[in-house]
Amino acid sequence: MATGSTTLSLKSYRRIAVKIGSALLVDRTKGLKRDWLASLADDIGTLAEGGAEILVVSSGAIALGRTILGLGKRALKLEESQAAAAVGQIALAGAWSDALGSHGLKSGQILLTLGDTEERRRYLNARATISTLLKMKAIPVINENDTVATSEIRYGDNDRLAARVATMMGADLLVLLSDIDGLYTAPPARDPKAAFIPLVERITPDIEAMAGAAASELSRGGMRTKLDAGKIATAAGTAMIITAGTRQSPLMAIERGERATLFRPSTHPVKGYKTWIAGQLEPAGRLTVDEGAVKALLSGKSLLPAGVKQVSGNFSRGDTVAILSPDSREIARGLVAYDAADAVRIAGLKTAEIEAVLGYEARSAMIHRDDLVVSDVEA
Ligand code: GLU
Repeated sequence: MATGSTTLSLKSYRRIAVKIGSALLVDRTKGLKRDWLASLADDIGTLAEGGAEILVVSSGAIALGRTILGLGKRALKLEESQAAAAVGQIALAGAWSDALGSHGLKSGQILLTLGDTEERRRYLNARATISTLLKMKAIPVINENDTVATSEIRYGDNDRLAARVATMMGADLLVLLSDIDGLYTAPPARDPKAAFIPLVERITPDIEAMAGAAASELSRGGMRTKLDAGKIATAAGTAMIITAGTRQSPLMAIERGERATLFRPSTHPVKGYKTWIAGQLEPAGRLTVDEGAVKALLSGKSLLPAGVKQVSGNFSRGDTVAILSPDSREIARGLVAYDAADAVRIAGLKTAEIEAVLGYEARSAMIHRDDLVVSDVEA
């Protein structure tokens, strides 16, 4: 829950991912905000001089492409957004390379599609490339590869993309630069009495309720996706800060004590392979379990078919599924050992009964403990 005020400093963090929203970088009529970008590059230079490694997750490809192509404010068809992203991304990458270059910093562009973080082999591959860039002292400048992303296979928002990248790279801090300066008890645009929250120890359902409406197309990039990003980050031991990016030198503004909300990392973060499982963006299915299974999971055991009450989704063996408590709260995630059709057939059965039903000698666990991550929930 939220507590009193706190003084924030970025100096103690060694690897920092910074996410920049489109509206900060691009003015609809004038195009790229070069002065602002230069001030942010100053801040990045200061942090890099202090020995921190920085990863940039920059939005703005579509917004910039729109202004360059003179597309105005009208809604774009998918292929028009993709074309705008193609035009905008080349300009965006150039602007970053120039801005960081003027501080003697090298940079490298990384464009990710959803599968690059959600599929294990590709995740390891992306991680290796970004690690190598960091070793070479080049700042990774990352965005979604919007030119090929379609609505079914895209992150859709750079908040969660940034959290996925930050945890993949073991960053100790993720900073979301936004048009809002932190978390409030309610969306301040709608509720003038909304109170600012400087510190979030844990993202509980009460905290989530503060983001306002449930996830929807309109809340993309709003507080909802920021809290989703916070859950991914903090579970893996990455702290998160939300602050306004609208002022000049927005990172040093945090040092000066300007308003920002800190989300504290979990005290028992998941590690390595389990970070990849815990942060999966779209579980392929859901298993609702009974109270006995909830207890077993919280004490570190595998999920057995006997404890599974309901199976939903069309998943394949090895996919990530969410595990729900009887009251439908997500309590864990894991890689399921059965396809959905077989999972349905053996749900509720004792281990000894499974072989007769499936016709083959099967694994005893629906999800093995090694492939399972329990969420940071109150028991
Ligand atoms: N990837 C999109 C772009 O660069 C932005 C997505 C977002 O801002 O969340 O235009």
